Amino acid sequence: MPVDYRISRERMVERHLARRGIKDGRVLEAFRTVPRHAFVEEALQAKAYSDHALPIGEKQTISQPYVVARMTELARIRPDDRVLEIGTGSGYQTAILARLAGQVYSIERIASLARRARTVIASLGLESVVHIKVFDGTYGWSEWAPYQAIVVSAASPDLPAPLLDQLAPEGRLVIPIGAEERQDLTVVTLQAEGPRIERHGVVSFVRLIGRFGWSA
Ligand code: SAH
Repeated sequence: MPVDYRISRERMVERHLARRGIKDGRVLEAFRTVPRHAFVEEALQAKAYSDHALPIGEKQTISQPYVVARMTELARIRPDDRVLEIGTGSGYQTAILARLAGQVYSIERIASLARRARTVIASLGLESVVHIKVFDGTYGWSEWAPYQAIVVSAASPDLPAPLLDQLAPEGRLVIPIGAEERQDLTVVTLQAEGPRIERHGVVSFVRLIGRFGWSA
């Protein structure tokens, strides 16, 4: 019989998200509905609702739930927003974004991860909202720009210029910026006077590898 993870998921939302300061009700609801265990291999599924990053193959990780929630909250996504995500990975954050936005465009540089993420996304019935392509995401995805929100789930040495160009007026870009081991979770808001930059604590992500990120 398949394990019912609903109680674990509810506990994750309460303990690791709500109690640690995630307040946005829509964000918390998205975490209640997206089955995180579906995004990791079977041997790791029992650990899917603890607040840890987990390996997803290809030396990459699915981010810990709190960090995914914090980034999603900072992106302030509204129901009609077009959202760009860089670093699909397992597709977990992609699915969370898909619960909140109108359309989600997600770029992953490793083809095998993109393929697996597409399968899980389709099994959850989200394929009409989510578009995944294999590419260097530091170039953005100009075809569907501008985006009301851009979420980068890999660490960048600084702000990739094309992403700023593809941000809509009042749009939010959420990106970890800094050194390889530690980065500042950075939010850039495109205001009429120019970009406003805020930092929201220290995080540790895998590297954003590409033309406007780290070289491989
Ligand atoms: N949000 C994802 C996190 C995955 S880790 C999850 O929860 O599963 C970051 C991902 O970014 C990795 O899969 C890595 O391959 C990808 N990545 C790194 N540099 C990239 C680039 N330039 N373009 C697209 N994806 C990139």
